[in-house]
Amino acid sequence: MAHHHDHSHDIASERIGWAFFLNLGFTIIEFIGGWLTNSTAIMADAVHDLGDSLSIGSAWLLNKFSNKGANQHFTYGYRRLSLFGAFINSVVLVVGSVWVLVLSVPRLFDPVMPVTEGMLALAILGIAVNGYAAVKLSSGKSLNEKVLNWHLLEDVLGWGAVLVVAIVLMFVDWPILDPILSICFTVFILINVVRNLVQTVRLFLQGAPDKKTQTKLTKVLIEPQEISTAHHVHYWSLDGEHHVLTAHLCLAQELNAEQVIALKQRLADNLAEYDLAHTTLEFEYPQEQCRDG
Ligand SMILES: [Zn+2]
Ligand SMILES: [Zn+2]
Ligand SMILES: [Zn+2]
Repeated sequence: MAHHHDHSHDIASERIGWAFFLNLGFTIIEFIGGWLTNSTAIMADAVHDLGDSLSIGSAWLLNKFSNKGANQHFTYGYRRLSLFGAFINSVVLVVGSVWVLVLSVPRLFDPVMPVTEGMLALAILGIAVNGYAAVKLSSGKSLNEKVLNWHLLEDVLGWGAVLVVAIVLMFVDWPILDPILSICFTVFILINVVRNLVQTVRLFLQGAPDKKTQTKLTKVLIEPQEISTAHHVHYWSLDGEHHVLTAHLCLAQELNAEQVIALKQRLADNLAEYDLAHTTLEFEYPQEQCRDG
């Protein structure tokens, strides 16, 4: 099957690279700012943004790598590297989240007033940086950019919450709001990490990327009347976006070369809508034994 090449990759790569350095720089400012303002909410946001920087960074590297495509030694290309990147990212986020919880849970019982002016300044900077990046990326058409853009808007909302808490703390003496916000952020981070981790492990184990599609594919394979049954149907995904299908198809009757070619063409037409990256179909004749048992 044809392997697609997206010629907007270079521009996408440039935009994502730019978002990476902006995000990383801002993450460093946040960690220093969180320490200076003594705010656990800022620290929680810093951990979140560290995770963002890592995933943007690996998306950026992969964008460059996936342009290289497959070679003799890596016959599927390098797309599976994204699973490795996602796994490392999850581990960093879990460690960071535990660290933030260790900082903020004791403060529920012994609240410490953060430097609210510093919090306010960082919140305004956070809204400006993430908002600007979101606007800049909103022209992007690639899936990566769309996901990133949606995410940046979420981050703007997070900084909005920090802004509100900073302003409230300027007028009332409720320092407990800081660890509460921090714990809310961290729980939100952990829920997303667990969801990503489950998906990553599924893909590692070559699980079917989507059960409904799997059922439909099996139907498509045995739909032509020349085919009686299918077995060794393997439907898995390189990276969650590029899927692979292999199958053995038992023929109901003897077919000559022309009939086989026509049958393969028909299967190709029926499979086209599933946009599979690699397909391998083997026909077994009625009197033939299956090699794989
Ligand atoms: Zn984010
Ligand atoms: Zn292939
Ligand atoms: Zn077989």
